[in-house]
Amino acid sequence: MRLSSFFALRLTSLVISALSLPPSASAQDRTTEQGEAQILDPTVECSPYQYPPVDNAQSNFPSSWTVATILPGDSAAQAKYQSIESLILDIPPKGKQPGALTGNFAGVTYDSNDPDCWWTYSMCTSPNVSGIPNDIAELPEPNILGYGFDDGPNCSHNAFYDYLLSKDQKATVFYIGSNVQQFPLEAQRALTDGHEICVHTWSHHYMTSLTNEQAFAELWYTMQMIKLVVGVTPTCWRPPYGDIDDRIRTIADALDLTTIMWQYDSDDWRGIGSETEVDNNYMNLITAAQNGTFSTSGTIMLTHELTNFTMSEAVKFYDQLASAFSYLVPVGVALNVTAPYVEDGYTLPTFAEFSGSGSGDTSDPSASGSSDGSVTNGTSGSTSATSGNSTNASNSGAAKVSFGHVGSFASAVVLIAGVQFML
Ligand SMILES: [Zn+2]
Repeated sequence: MRLSSFFALRLTSLVISALSLPPSASAQDRTTEQGEAQILDPTVECSPYQYPPVDNAQSNFPSSWTVATILPGDSAAQAKYQSIESLILDIPPKGKQPGALTGNFAGVTYDSNDPDCWWTYSMCTSPNVSGIPNDIAELPEPNILGYGFDDGPNCSHNAFYDYLLSKDQKATVFYIGSNVQQFPLEAQRALTDGHEICVHTWSHHYMTSLTNEQAFAELWYTMQMIKLVVGVTPTCWRPPYGDIDDRIRTIADALDLTTIMWQYDSDDWRGIGSETEVDNNYMNLITAAQNGTFSTSGTIMLTHELTNFTMSEAVKFYDQLASAFSYLVPVGVALNVTAPYVEDGYTLPTFAEFSGSGSGDTSDPSASGSSDGSVTNGTSGSTSATSGNSTNASNSGAAKVSFGHVGSFASAVVLIAGVQFML
């Protein structure tokens, strides 16, 4: 999916009838989180509304869906950027604009040894630069699924969030700054419902293609917008399309953001026309869990709250996932991140508390874990932890164009074909 159609899709009113919950009969209050959360007509949900705190701060933020830069006169952003600038690894932005913004890395020359730990090239999650933690793609506890959704807040997510509430299920939500700006009351609902909020950049472009300042601003202004709207500053993020390298990692780390990736990809963003494929991706994960693939560590699958289809797929497979895994948990809970935000007063349980194996009574955010631990002694769990990503990469055209026959040192140079997949 090209980026233009992606935006069109995002900005289109999304029909959520498949979740088939009745519309609210009460008068519509579009000034509070509670009021907005009761609206179940997607046309109404997705129509614009006024929210004075955001409207009044419009000049303090980049334009929606445009690559962020530090705004003139923004002394706080400038000071922060200057304070971290020396920490940013000296790697040039990859590709040429505007193509690279949409993942077209055609013509890029890159060392096949993957010196930058560039995920888009190699799915690398272990930085080569010292002092930077590995990206989180698997989880320390066995047989758990890090449960989360990208690209929100979706303006028509009320029925889906209601469903999660009905299951007492918390998730990690990766929010786009421009979406938070446009639908602030929907963003507030995530905190009200107990979900964990992470950053998913301001304008959802390929981060490795941006300058240092742009990449900083994409993260910084999303953090500031979430703080303005929701009142908290996240400490985690996920790069759009998974496009990260060691330069981007140093910027995120300097902003105290933990990078959350994934091992499995639902490919749900491909849309309703790919329902069979998406169903198969979910079932592969479920089968892998049933076969004992995660007997020593938990995993994460990439899924979205992007459209009615992606949310409906999540609903469709929820019970089977909950059955196949011991627990579906927010990523922060799996990592024992008890203070998920910069601000005091917001806590997540440890995993032990969440799963009931810890001491003391806890405010367990989810009792959903169907602990069906009856893992068969599987041998057919052939869905390796990276197969989804591998498929993704091969579909993307991130092909390793031939680099042989040029001499013994020439294997160091690889050309990357266009990478235009959507994550
Ligand atoms: Zn995304």
